[in-house]
Amino acid sequence: MNVTVHALEMEMGRASKRAEADRPERADVEDAFRTIIRWTGDDPERDGLIETPARAARAFEEFFAGYGQDPALLLQKTFEEIEGYDEMIVLRGIRFESHCEHHLAPIIGRAWVAYVPSGRVVGISKLARVVEAYARRLQIQEKMTAQVANTINDVLKPQGVGVILRATHHCMTTRGVHKHDADLVTSRMLGCFRDNPLTRQEFLTMVD
Ligand SMILES: [Zn+2]
Repeated sequence: MNVTVHALEMEMGRASKRAEADRPERADVEDAFRTIIRWTGDDPERDGLIETPARAARAFEEFFAGYGQDPALLLQKTFEEIEGYDEMIVLRGIRFESHCEHHLAPIIGRAWVAYVPSGRVVGISKLARVVEAYARRLQIQEKMTAQVANTINDVLKPQGVGVILRATHHCMTTRGVHKHDADLVTSRMLGCFRDNPLTRQEFLTMVD
């Protein structure tokens, strides 16, 4: 192994151990939820709320499981026996649940993920797993859209990638301006999806 790479990996190993050491204990998180409940004006010791901090901590563990997943790793296994298939592959309307990093409020939406392969394809469920790995983090939709597209582009090196996300943001529908029907659409087009209007158009007609 190259010495520089080895040093880098040792440094990364130390960094992840540091992050692990800095991670609060579950008991600290439950205390934090008790504080929030008290701050709302309720009593965290009353019967109906006594188990809530523990449940909320478990729910957060699920909401933010994406930090423990490496989206690039999900795309490592590819298939090359595709008989020269070089047309668009589209996974449509992948439901996702995320949380906005500004209010910790839910972002509920769907994703359309497309690519034109260059000699190899990936199992279709893996595209959905990549969306989920990024959704289960604190997010802004624009960033998540770019992350999904960039990861597929970097790992699969296809001819192009298109990603469209359409979502409602609970920080906007249930509070603030209270616009219930508004959804946010974001897109990122790379390679032939950016350069070829016909490819882009073909993809857009599949988004409903
Ligand atoms: Zn928000």
